[in-house]
Amino acid sequence: MTAEYVAEEVAAWRDGCGDLEVSAARELAAQWHGGQWSALYSYASAGVIRTDLADEVRAELADATDARDRDELGALLSFVEQPVFVVWSSYGHHFMHADEDTYTCMRCGAAYDLRPDGDDRTHGDYVTVDGSEPDECTGDEWMAHGYPGERVCDGCDGEGCDHCNHDCPCLLCNS
Ligand SMILES: [Zn+2]
Ligand SMILES: [Zn+2]
Ligand SMILES: [Zn+2]
Repeated sequence: MTAEYVAEEVAAWRDGCGDLEVSAARELAAQWHGGQWSALYSYASAGVIRTDLADEVRAELADATDARDRDELGALLSFVEQPVFVVWSSYGHHFMHADEDTYTCMRCGAAYDLRPDGDDRTHGDYVTVDGSEPDECTGDEWMAHGYPGERVCDGCDGEGCDHCNHDCPCLLCNS
C-alpha cells in the first residue's frame, strides 16, 4: 500500500470513476482515525464497519479546509455510504427496502436489518436486532406482524392462532 496508490484512488473518485477500493479506504481510515476507540480506528485496524463510521467521517469532513484533505475525506465518506448490495443469503425471504437499513419480507412480513459484514461496505448480511441470523421465511402470508399484543390478525378473532402467536426473531416481533 503506497501513498501514491491511495492518491490515485482518491483522484479517480474525484474524477467520477467510482468508489475507493477497500484497501485504499482502510489506509485512509488509518490516516484519519482519532484514537483507538474511534470507528475509523476499528475499520482501519480490524476491518469492522461500525454504525457510527459514516458520522465520524462526516465530522472530519466538516472540519477539513485543505483541498486534499477534503478530497480524501469525501472519497472515504462516499465509500462508507455505499449501500450493501451483495448478501450471501436472504433466508428465503423476498425482501424489499423499508427504511434506513431495514428490509421487510413481501411474503411473511418479517423485518430485518441489512448490515455490512467485513471490510467491504457493499457486502452484508440480514440480521436481527442483536445481530443474529434471521429465521427462514415461512412463506405464510397471513402471519400477523407487529409487536406482540399489537398484532392485527385476520386469521382469528383475537383468540390467538398460528398467524398471530408465531415465534419470530425479526425486528417487528422483538423490541
Ligand atoms: Zn419472509
Ligand atoms: Zn390470530
Ligand atoms: Zn416477525
